[in-house]
Amino acid sequence: MGRRKKIVQECERLMDDPENIRNIAIAAHVDHGKTTLTDNLLAGAGMISDETAGEQLAMDTEEDEQERGITIDAANVSMTHEYEDQNHLINLIDTPGHVDFGGDVTRAMRAVDGALVVVDAVEGAMPQTETVLRQALREGVKPTLFINKVDRLISELQEGAEEMQERLLSVIRDVNELIRGMTEDMDDIEDWTVSVEEGTVGFGSALYKWGVSMPSMQRTGMDFAEIMELERADKRQELHERTPLSDVVLDMVCEHFPNPIDAQPRRIPRVWRGDDQSEIAEQMRLVDEDGEVVLMVTDIAMDPHAGEVASGRVFSGTLEKGQELYVSGTAGKNRVQSVGVYMGGEREEVDEVPAGNIAAVTGLKDAIAGSTVSGVEMTPFETIEHISEPVITKS
Ligand code: GDP
Repeated sequence: MGRRKKIVQECERLMDDPENIRNIAIAAHVDHGKTTLTDNLLAGAGMISDETAGEQLAMDTEEDEQERGITIDAANVSMTHEYEDQNHLINLIDTPGHVDFGGDVTRAMRAVDGALVVVDAVEGAMPQTETVLRQALREGVKPTLFINKVDRLISELQEGAEEMQERLLSVIRDVNELIRGMTEDMDDIEDWTVSVEEGTVGFGSALYKWGVSMPSMQRTGMDFAEIMELERADKRQELHERTPLSDVVLDMVCEHFPNPIDAQPRRIPRVWRGDDQSEIAEQMRLVDEDGEVVLMVTDIAMDPHAGEVASGRVFSGTLEKGQELYVSGTAGKNRVQSVGVYMGGEREEVDEVPAGNIAAVTGLKDAIAGSTVSGVEMTPFETIEHISEPVITKS
């Protein structure tokens, strides 16, 4: 059996176990390194080769994106990662970082429960960092922070340990100030500020494929002094091998992002205003794979062979080929032609996709991004509001 086939099979097995699923987005200001980091994760999970990670830009699937060098469409990918002796299924949605595509970022946030916010260590938090955080928090999506391009502080800016520490701490302070300001009125969210000690902050270099966090330093025994020494001596391959970025980030994802069972009871009342005493509300809160099908479509993509493919989050029930489903805002039903998941940018058809996962579905001809697709007629999800960039006034 080919490697890819094995990964698909493992994903299918894990799809049935919501406790070990993490639905996540990576979000960042443009050029802060989201694409390079994503490729690291895919390589770490065995989805693309290690050598080509960073060059391949696997998530940039559209020709247009490659030409323009920016990510413009939210693409999805599923991967597996072993953490504390348990294999996890990580469904990752790529979000556009460019200023014009805020609507796609917001939609992607509806499908996920955790957002890894990438911030360039040199530039610090930028306007889009604020926008993506606001989008995530409004959807009840928990943030963690990865401070990228730390290699530049060491090798290019030649910062000393103290100077570097001060800079990194100030990035964390800024991000926490934003999170605090955005969540202080939200009574369903506990303290979601990020912290080095708790392990919700990672640092590193997506370009040179190394990363650290407090838990990883405890595990590998590597501290910042040694990292600075190796980075200065240009021993980046050694750094990558001893403290690979993908392990640090994927461990953080498994440890600190909620699984669907923990996330849905909090997220459903936030994004759905139907009768909270109804059976369907209970099924969504419980991530009930035997409940009625409820799919929130977050993206429609064109497949050259299959035509329109709707992707989105299955909040309840199990999606299967042949089901006749209602599409909010339209009359009649659509018939599901195929169900699948995205693996390394390609769609793989599977027999069924249960609640708690992100599915790719064909046959939903009336669905648009934002549609609620369900086995019974129901109150649709709240519309996904586009949050535009904060207005920057020049002094
Ligand atoms: P995105 O717009 O957030 O997806 O950013 P990209 O991943 O496309 O990266 C933008 C630029 O920053 C590219 O030229 C990358 O090679 C570079 N880059 C990304 N990560 C790092 C890093 O950790 N260190 C350095 N020095 N450059 C990086």
